[in-house]
Amino acid sequence: MPRMHEMSLMESVIAIVCEMAQLNGASAVKSIRLDVGVLSHINPDSLLFCYEAVRRGTIAEHAALEINRIAGEGWCLDCGKTVPLDERFGACPDCGRYQVQATAGDELRIKDMEVI
Ligand SMILES: [Zn+2]
Repeated sequence: MPRMHEMSLMESVIAIVCEMAQLNGASAVKSIRLDVGVLSHINPDSLLFCYEAVRRGTIAEHAALEINRIAGEGWCLDCGKTVPLDERFGACPDCGRYQVQATAGDELRIKDMEVI
């Protein structure tokens, strides 16, 4: 996965965080928590690397970034239940078929943030 992907994602995150902080009259962002699903193909190390670059000069410059990994989950049409999923188009661990629709784990979401 090219690093540009994480860079543009992180730019969006910082833009949203700074806008929300300013709307709340905050002078600085103290911390940011992100949910990153394991099916999203987003590399957390790349995210952290890009974060260092894009936060400079913003009110989130000194914010701590925490990344929570969200496990993958899917709905197996054959079994009629929710099963754990390691990859987006992976097989059902119970029946081995590929009729699984991902229901969790492909998100990138700002979980919460702290401002000063
Ligand atoms: Zn199944």
